Amino acid sequence: MSETPNADLRAWLRILEKRGELAVAKPEAALRHEIAAISKNLEREKAVLFPAPKGHERTHTIPVVTNLLVDRPSVAAALGVSDHEVLPRFLAAARNPIAPVEIASGPAQEVVHRRVNLEQLLPIPTHNELDSGAYITAALLIARSPDTGVQNISIHRCQISGPDRIGVLLLPRHTHAYYRQAEKRGEPLEIALVIGVHPAYLLASQAIAALDEDEMGIAGALLGRPAEVVKCLTNNVRVPAHAEIVLEGRILPSVREPEGPFGEFPQYYGPRANREVIVIDAVTHRRQPIFHTIVGGGYEHLILGGVPREATLLQHLRRSFPNILDVRLTRGGTCRYHLVVKIDKLNNGEPKNIMMGAFAGHYDIKQVVVVDRDVDIDSSIDIEWAIATRFQADRDLLLVSGAQGSRLDPSANEGVSAKMGLDATAPVGTLSDTYRRIRVPGEAEVDRSAALESTSGARDCLHALLNQRAEHE
Ligand code: MN
Repeated sequence: MSETPNADLRAWLRILEKRGELAVAKPEAALRHEIAAISKNLEREKAVLFPAPKGHERTHTIPVVTNLLVDRPSVAAALGVSDHEVLPRFLAAARNPIAPVEIASGPAQEVVHRRVNLEQLLPIPTHNELDSGAYITAALLIARSPDTGVQNISIHRCQISGPDRIGVLLLPRHTHAYYRQAEKRGEPLEIALVIGVHPAYLLASQAIAALDEDEMGIAGALLGRPAEVVKCLTNNVRVPAHAEIVLEGRILPSVREPEGPFGEFPQYYGPRANREVIVIDAVTHRRQPIFHTIVGGGYEHLILGGVPREATLLQHLRRSFPNILDVRLTRGGTCRYHLVVKIDKLNNGEPKNIMMGAFAGHYDIKQVVVVDRDVDIDSSIDIEWAIATRFQADRDLLLVSGAQGSRLDPSANEGVSAKMGLDATAPVGTLSDTYRRIRVPGEAEVDRSAALESTSGARDCLHALLNQRAEHE
């Protein structure tokens, strides 16, 4: 694995430029909806840099960047591995974290604002149609346990509720656990919101780790070197020293204010409700910072949650089924609900055991399709082909009623959901006869530049051929 000097947002943008995956928008794209519209249009192709967004007037414009990850190959590039090594690499990093090192100062604190007006200081976009307003969507929320001092990293939707005030959705996981520890003592929880980092930090933040495991160590392992961190100026939280922008603040005890609606990963709005409140005490940033935003429900949002969940599910399932080759949470299933499992099938009936294991692996999983080793699980066409030709509903369908599901799935009944498993595998031992796929020898090895004429060669050939025919008519 190659070591990246200062594995920060800028290093990643340079790589994207070399890969031809960084577009630059014309100036004046509006913060409200237009940045999101252009980004979604390009979400499977390119990152987009908006050098001078409209709707944020100040002397020094701050650029906005979107779509840092546009496909699985870009996730692989961010982790410095080949496409098929993404999940093993993620699992290895989660198992062998590298602790961060603290340094005295870093570019993230070059400029300090102690009087805070968030929308004046930063270009904060509004994305989906019915979002309640501007949201910070790509910030690492770094919190410190008041009991142990161990840090946690996660990503939350952050509604701008006032000049120094943010409404935040804390699902009942680690940040929420820290917050409850602090709230019980009547104290605020010290946090930082960190905007503009290398995608390895964003991926690490989504790892399904234990409560006392610092995701910064997973980020370090993904990058092959310890993350360099600095202490915040107004609290004890440690943040990546090479981040673009840091908001230092506190989640207030015993305060709840309205937050939402906000367009979420299932492609629906999360509703408005009374939620926790962050007050920002200081903003620090690089001299010319870049602001990263993630469009709610866009591909970047889906893939960031998808890859770490796949890695966890693969590890969980392989404990019982070592013949599992790969897993995917499909994009159509919002990278959360629909799982495809590829196996080297050893026993008839095994796919149904795998389905039950997968439903137990994460309550979000609502549909499992099990396919054989000759199916491309990155192709929804190939998966449908396997269902079309290897699945019989009266024999190969597993249905479970009334299980725990996702609360964000509007078709579930307050989080109670049915589960469906489809065994789209052929009987053991039949892939070489009854279920042998047709194949053209040499198709996969075709070298187009060797096999096809150049443009001018093709023109000469066609010209001669078509003119000759014209003479005979
Ligand atoms: Mn955690």
